[in-house]
Amino acid sequence: AKNAGRNRYRFFEPEMTVATQVRMALEVSLRPALARGEFELHYQPRIDLARMAPVGMEALIRWNHPERGRVPPQQFIGIAEETGLIVPIGRWVLQEACARTRALIDEFGRKMVVSVNVSARQLGNAHFVDEVRAVLLETGLAPDCLELELTESALIEDIERTAAMLKDLKRLGVALAVDDFGTGYSSLAYLRRFPIDVLKLDRSFLLQEDGNVTTSDFVKAFVEMAHALNMAVVAEGVETEEMLELLRAARCDQAQGYLLAKPMPLDTLRIVGWTASPS
Ligand code: C2E
Ligand code: CA
Ligand code: CA
Ligand code: CA
Repeated sequence: AKNAGRNRYRFFEPEMTVATQVRMALEVSLRPALARGEFELHYQPRIDLARMAPVGMEALIRWNHPERGRVPPQQFIGIAEETGLIVPIGRWVLQEACARTRALIDEFGRKMVVSVNVSARQLGNAHFVDEVRAVLLETGLAPDCLELELTESALIEDIERTAAMLKDLKRLGVALAVDDFGTGYSSLAYLRRFPIDVLKLDRSFLLQEDGNVTTSDFVKAFVEMAHALNMAVVAEGVETEEMLELLRAARCDQAQGYLLAKPMPLDTLRIVGWTASPS
């Protein structure tokens, strides 16, 4: 019986510790990653559907781990949020994205908008608005060339406080987008309380339960409602021509997705000509 107990212990314990150990190892190597310059931003072009022309791009963080290679954001953003490391990492993302976009605008002489993901933890930081203001000043990026992508869950934490903060951000002149719309519980009616400019539809919003693309009438009605509330609609995760056609038929404003362009380093984007075209 003593033996069986020990076997059982041995059977379960290592499995639990492997997951925990990987997590802990990631956490330990995440702390110095910023100072070691292991982060990089890739940029995914955003396409205006009426003109089928690029209008901007979303900055997406990449972690080049010295031993593990590229670690996807899903594996470390959560850890960064829990440990608070997302605050300095997020500040770096903002600074880097704004500086590189400013340089690109100077090089091409055209306006383009960079979208930066902001986590709930960053938004909860009392200095966030000051940080955004400082980064715009330092980099010289025009405020209307920056869009902040906030998740629905970040918006429901403390409605009064969040609403006041978003108002301050709007006063700076930046655009505000709700990311992953359709995956949480918020509705258009709810979002009216906030000065939101853009709704980013999660790809799941455009798929039916059987995996087929939803009807264009549904998307059209949704886009009309968003427009009536002065919000632009951006579809994410566009992978097929069928979905692209549906979105264009529904008068969706912009789209992002592998069909159009994958996230890539800014230099690749420059070379392939995926920078914003004249409007
Ligand atoms: P997200 O903000 O919803 O970003 C979109 C994700 O979808 C990106 O994954 C992008 O590479 C991927 N994607 C783009 N086109 C397609 C497509 O056609 N099909 C599919 N299936 N996927 C597509 P990625 O880069 O792995 O980022 C994952 C998530 O990590 C992001 O989701 C965002 O929540 C978070 N994240 C990334 N960068 C940052 C950052 O700088 N700060 C914060 N706080 N979060 C970030
Ligand atoms: Ca996003
Ligand atoms: Ca999203
Ligand atoms: Ca997402």
